[in-house]
Amino acid sequence: MWQVVGHETIVALLDNSLKGGNLSHAYLLVGPPHVGKMTLALNLAQALNCQEDQKPCGTCTSCQRIAGLRHADIQVIGLDGRAEIGIDQIREMERSATLKPFEGRNRVFIIDGAEHLSTEAANCLLKTLEEPPPNVQLMLLAVNERLLLPTVLSRCQKLELRPLPTPVVERALIEHWEAAPELARLLARLSSGCPGWAVGAFHDDRIPGERASRLSALLQLTSVGRAERFAYAAQLASQFSKNREAVREVLSLWVGWWRDLLLIKGGCHDFIINIDQEATLYNEAENYHLTGIKGFIESLQQAVEALGRNANPRLVLEVLMLNIPQKEGG
Ligand SMILES: [Zn+2]
Repeated sequence: MWQVVGHETIVALLDNSLKGGNLSHAYLLVGPPHVGKMTLALNLAQALNCQEDQKPCGTCTSCQRIAGLRHADIQVIGLDGRAEIGIDQIREMERSATLKPFEGRNRVFIIDGAEHLSTEAANCLLKTLEEPPPNVQLMLLAVNERLLLPTVLSRCQKLELRPLPTPVVERALIEHWEAAPELARLLARLSSGCPGWAVGAFHDDRIPGERASRLSALLQLTSVGRAERFAYAAQLASQFSKNREAVREVLSLWVGWWRDLLLIKGGCHDFIINIDQEATLYNEAENYHLTGIKGFIESLQQAVEALGRNANPRLVLEVLMLNIPQKEGG
């Protein structure tokens, strides 16, 4: 059983290619964070090494070792806290790609955050991408394919994983993870269609507290002066150098919040994400003009994109702070 939630067409394509023996050497899985790229890549790695007839079974030793990232033939290459995936990591990968599989039938290399390959590393990867050794499968995962070299792009088969409809995430939380219906509904909305986020949040007791403190910081920032906003920008920027993901999460929460305000202004409150904060959202929506909200959502999207392109985080975040809309009458 493929474990990935949703993405049925892509699963069917991979399953058929696997059965027909015509998998591409290298796939590029593109989609937002937590949409299911890693789960899908690991599922394919399981299918390529499963010991049972119905591949991937999910329960044989091989499948279990892969799910736990303990299989000697499956390697995940990522940023590991660095700013780039370096040429040393790719050289090391290429060296192990030439070795025979150790415990399974196929070696699978998953490059997580392929858009962060340094130019040198990407160029070094080209040869393996074009002609990988036998029994080697490459999986590149990326959020933003526009940051990949065209030469890398052209050597991979691209599969695009789009956010899932909220009810699909909600149902998965209830059926597979036994979440209470009300919590499942909230987490599915907050996940923006990315089941990995919802499941992570369901298992992580810190998430509700973290979200509450991020929301309260957001609300506070809308009523303070420039100095406090810049101080917050500096704090986020320094956090960005240590934990990009956390800052991305803060900004994504902001996008969700301001999008909710926009929906309330437009009378589409059925679609709001922060359903447990409805009263506050209604109060806040009173404070802004529609154009101010729209403009700030655009600024947020630009900031997220600029950070993904490695722009100076402090500058990007300061500009963002300047663009927080004025409250009416404030
Ligand atoms: Zn198996």
